[in-house]
Amino acid sequence: MRKKISLLVVAFVACSLLSYGWGFFGHKVVHQLSIYGLPKQMQGFFYQNQDYLVQKSVRPDERRNNDPEEAPRHFIDVDVYGVDAVYTMPQSWKAAAEKYPVDTLKKYGIVPWHVMVMKERLTNAFRQQNADSILFYAADLGHYIADAHVPLHTTLNYDGQLTNQHGLHSLWESKVPEMHAEMYKLQNKRAVYLKDTETAIWEVVRASHKLFPGVLELEREATKSFTPETKYVTVERNGRKRQYYSDDFAKKYAELLGPTVAQRMQSSAEVVSNFWYTCWVDGGKPDLDKLMASKLSKDQKKALKQEKKSWKKNTLFQEKRVLALQKKANS
Ligand SMILES: [Zn+2]
Repeated sequence: MRKKISLLVVAFVACSLLSYGWGFFGHKVVHQLSIYGLPKQMQGFFYQNQDYLVQKSVRPDERRNNDPEEAPRHFIDVDVYGVDAVYTMPQSWKAAAEKYPVDTLKKYGIVPWHVMVMKERLTNAFRQQNADSILFYAADLGHYIADAHVPLHTTLNYDGQLTNQHGLHSLWESKVPEMHAEMYKLQNKRAVYLKDTETAIWEVVRASHKLFPGVLELEREATKSFTPETKYVTVERNGRKRQYYSDDFAKKYAELLGPTVAQRMQSSAEVVSNFWYTCWVDGGKPDLDKLMASKLSKDQKKALKQEKKSWKKNTLFQEKRVLALQKKANS
């Protein structure tokens, strides 16, 4: 079906997907919050590497440009397999590959199964007490888990392109949170051990997919208050005109969505923390303090304490403690 989309539409979608998967802003916020949810034995090491984990939260999206294997790792068009497939699809890769051709699975996305691959690698990195590998896989794993939280990452109609709602993808996961995150209540719970990580990531996919009809419906609802002239803005880039949702439209759409985007963002941070923690436990609970370049300095300890205080009060944005909005995190 995707092949039938005209080249022009592909070009437009490609443009709107430059920051595919929560947008760079969303991924960075999620990883910052995930660190606060970790237990004490993990927090020093993760906090000392906070800049890395926040900046590298977007590396899998950047990799998409050079690695043809990368794209399917970020989504699963689960409705391709049937209306109820999200509930009936085999959870394990082995069982899924027995039921469907591997080429088909790869074509329509493998995010839940790739999360399991990354989870194994992170667990091994903990087992081997390899600080570089722990950070590398923690960053990648967090990205894919956050992507699985986006409703439009669970459908063939991933940009609203099949229902004449082009650009919906970046509206939902980038424009809306970038405009409104300051008002979000983002208090992710403390990390808990996951007995069944496979079911946990599938539950994320199922919850995302359940929200998908509303994502389309509320766009139609918002449209009732706009004319084509006020709904979109036309931007000319490199001699080409492109249409984007206007700020006013994004505002109205966000109003109708209510807390949905914030809830998916908060859940992303919780599930990322849970997976990091579970990998550490399964990896034999190595002493991470020994892997730190140096102990947390007095200033670092003070900063962590202040950040956690803001996190608990939900004032990280107001107190300008969000790394995604600071210069170094965007360099
Ligand atoms: Zn992504």
